[in-house]
Amino acid sequence: MTVTYEEALQKYEPVFGLETHVELGTTTKMFCGCPTTFGAEPNSHVCPVCLGLPGSLPVTNRVAIEYTIKIGLALNCSIASWCRFARKNYFYPDMPKNFQISQYDEPLCVDGYLDVLVGGKTVRVGIERVHLEEDTGKSLHIGGATGRIQGADYSLVDYNRAGIPLVEIVTRPVPGTGYLAPEVARAYVTELRDLLRSLGVSDVRMEEGSLRADVNTSLSPRGSDVLGTRTETKNVNSLRSVERAVRSEVSRQAEVLDSGGRVIQETRHFHEDTGVTTSGRSKEEAQDYRYFPEPDLVPVAPPRDWVESIAASLPELPSARRARLMAAWSLSELEFEALRNAGALDVVEATVAVGASPADARKWWLGELARRANDMGIEVSALPITPADVARISELVAAGSLNDRLARQVIEGVLDEEGTPDEVVAARGLAVVSDDSALLSAIDEAIAANPDVVARIRDGKVQAAGVLVGAVMKATRGKADAARVRELIMERLG
Ligand SMILES: [Zn+2]
Repeated sequence: MTVTYEEALQKYEPVFGLETHVELGTTTKMFCGCPTTFGAEPNSHVCPVCLGLPGSLPVTNRVAIEYTIKIGLALNCSIASWCRFARKNYFYPDMPKNFQISQYDEPLCVDGYLDVLVGGKTVRVGIERVHLEEDTGKSLHIGGATGRIQGADYSLVDYNRAGIPLVEIVTRPVPGTGYLAPEVARAYVTELRDLLRSLGVSDVRMEEGSLRADVNTSLSPRGSDVLGTRTETKNVNSLRSVERAVRSEVSRQAEVLDSGGRVIQETRHFHEDTGVTTSGRSKEEAQDYRYFPEPDLVPVAPPRDWVESIAASLPELPSARRARLMAAWSLSELEFEALRNAGALDVVEATVAVGASPADARKWWLGELARRANDMGIEVSALPITPADVARISELVAAGSLNDRLARQVIEGVLDEEGTPDEVVAARGLAVVSDDSALLSAIDEAIAANPDVVARIRDGKVQAAGVLVGAVMKATRGKADAARVRELIMERLG
């Protein structure tokens, strides 16, 4: 690409929007009793309703309605007191009925927002609507190198996923984020994922497709509030890809506009390997889907008292948790973001809960443990060490039984599955030498071996004592408390 992201930003203001699909974690499908478990034998979780056989009739899943209301309330939306499902007509091999039951002009939840934190600043992302629909099946293309339909010998369809409840969360266009647009888009999906997880309505696994984001991007000329033509990048399957997809589209569209061209409204595919998007199909207009109210279903009219009882049962949401932890731990927005982005929020909170100070818990999880997790290519929360272990190690350091260097060795031992911190300390003999008489013999040896240093200290150059402290630490193989060693040296020479 010849126009860099930075160059594009000098002339254009990016505007993005996100349509996020979430598979709900109900035990049965949206309109029938088929199970929803992932990874079953193909076409084993199907029945006449989700296969769209003639004469079968759908029945709405009450838990899916409840989960959608939960999501709507958590996103500060109004909940419709009466709404209907609609048929969205299109033809696709993985959709057995040749229409999808969705919601069109009467979504269940409308007009909310989600606040996200980026670079220490809060950005409010408007939520246009949250609606409920059914998922499609899955086509598998067999033969050929890419798993795509091009070059395949034949295709198979698995309808296990057809009819799983799917919630679509649509944002309003988000203007005014400038250079940070890709990061704000990523932070929004991250915050939304955490919110959905805290609600317990979905397992939100992007890699299994239970959370899928389509990213809309357009450019306005700087200083103009006219929205440019948008493109829709489909099924972006990781948080990192959300950021990269916006960045790549901004550069590509700037290049088109700079060369006098016109951005075409179309869907585009994001390529994980190259980080660029390529053209998909030209985007259908709403009228192409010939929406009409679904005649086989009764309207959804959630009673007010039910909605109120759902609102009262909402758990602590990520935004409330953020405010609580920032106050309790005296953190700035940037410090909080660092914890969240490191995936260390839960483990630090658990470590504090079993007695460590917030500062110590953050120090170990964001320092030594983050480094180890990075080396192993896993999340910090997946390390084979418990919050209780980390709390015990910081307790031993606070009591002076371990110094930081020894504590890192204890961590190494616990990660190598040598046992609890106390077991590792005992087995490896890692306790700080706190017995002064044991230290004094090492100190006397150091003094005898370094007469010139001793002379400088006696001349008033007390910083030279560092050489003697170093010699004692070496002799005790790092097991001494350096501050105590320095004290004893000064006493000895005083
Ligand atoms: Zn079924």
